[in-house]
Amino acid sequence: MSARLCQQCCQWIWSRDGLCPDCQDLLPESYDVEKIAQRARGLTGAVLRPIGHVKLKRKKLPTDGVLYVTETGLFFLPHRMVLATKYVEEQSTSLLWRIAATIWMPLWFLLPLVRRKRVRAKVVQEASPIQLNGSDLQLLPDLLPRVPGAFFIAAREVAVVRDRRRQWIVERFAGPNVVIEPVSPDAFRKQLAELGKIDLWRMAFGAD
Ligand SMILES: [Zn+2]
Repeated sequence: MSARLCQQCCQWIWSRDGLCPDCQDLLPESYDVEKIAQRARGLTGAVLRPIGHVKLKRKKLPTDGVLYVTETGLFFLPHRMVLATKYVEEQSTSLLWRIAATIWMPLWFLLPLVRRKRVRAKVVQEASPIQLNGSDLQLLPDLLPRVPGAFFIAAREVAVVRDRRRQWIVERFAGPNVVIEPVSPDAFRKQLAELGKIDLWRMAFGAD
């Protein structure tokens, strides 16, 4: 089982048997990254803008990322997982020392020394956004074959987009629904309201 890119569906999927669960295409283990990027550029058209940090309801593939709107559809770019060093404060074992000092009084003189807090470095995995600004925005389709978990959905593949309070459900004509939880729901709703005014999306948004 592994994460693979289905070129047909423009999405990374988790495959048990080397087949795409949505279109049943056989997925090669290696592929020509530049060729796929070129095809992706043709499909997405120009990248217009990011529309918000979102969390996807799915398993085994990255869930945190940024949703972008392009001339022809929606592109999800997952955050990268990076290793970060965090400094955590740890209390000294003052309780044990206090008990010991209660039993043996001379230890009271040492208590101020052992009460100090210790700072310890801890390495943790963190999701970190891939920053695309200005003309870098147009690099987005190139990242489809390079960032596991990325996907593109063309507007013409979307039957309806439903607003379910804190979740947005994108129902496609083929394949499972995409469930999106925006991190800033109000700002995200405004962005999608703008999108719904465009002819390309009017059907999908008007149907709810
Ligand atoms: Zn597929």
